[in-house]
Amino acid sequence: MLEIKNLTAGYSDETAAIHDINIQVPKNEVCSIIGSNGAGKTTLLKSIMGLLPSSNGEIIFDGQEISKLDSETISQMGIGYVPQGRMIFPYLTVEENLLLGCEVRKMNLKKALEVGYDYFPDLKGINKRKGGMLSGGQQQQLAIARMLVIDPKLIILDEPAEGIQPNVVQEIGRILTKITSELNVSVLLVEQFVGFALELSHSYYFLQGGQITNGGIITNENRTQIIDSIKL
Ligand code: ATP
Repeated sequence: MLEIKNLTAGYSDETAAIHDINIQVPKNEVCSIIGSNGAGKTTLLKSIMGLLPSSNGEIIFDGQEISKLDSETISQMGIGYVPQGRMIFPYLTVEENLLLGCEVRKMNLKKALEVGYDYFPDLKGINKRKGGMLSGGQQQQLAIARMLVIDPKLIILDEPAEGIQPNVVQEIGRILTKITSELNVSVLLVEQFVGFALELSHSYYFLQGGQITNGGIITNENRTQIIDSIKL
């Protein structure tokens, strides 16, 4: 679904924050990028989303090269991006936040809300509450639901477990697994919480100092060993 070849990008012409990145996210699978603070995770995601120009390499989404496209076009092609910090509108209600997602791909509003509430039923009971009044976990659920209503082919999540209590993190992981299998969606998950990410992943890459230093396929047989081997 997504293939990144030899990608180099950064914030100035002289220094690149990520170097020669090669990544594949297969269709209907969850792929994780694990890395500590400053490893280059957000930089990589911004490059994929057209928010940061790359100096070299290719980004191929669903068979199309997208590295020179703008972020709006990339969203409309079917990549749903949940940035770090969630970006919920604090003065809009849960429902209004969800409906904003529909603007991206001109979805039917009623159907869009049904999809959002179907996967995140807790949001339905608080649909009139302002975004700023929600807990971190509720905001994260709303951010994922809002992106879901655009009917994406690929979901990109930047550190969804950050600042959220463990039982809600577990619940989000369970819902992501459900979304992947039921909606035929691929997921690219960027995380520092190794256990959470790799429990639901089919493959992973380890990003250190802007470079991929390790990675591979995850199976039920090697999962625990891989989780234990990664030290951030
Ligand atoms: P975190 O987990 O803290 O979000 P990260 O893995 O997402 O870290 P990035 O935010 O991608 O890391 O940062 C990678 C490198 O790029 C770091 O050295 C960082 O200082 C640098 N960097 C990030 N944003 C900018 C910016 N706007 N301008 C210049 N350098 C930046």
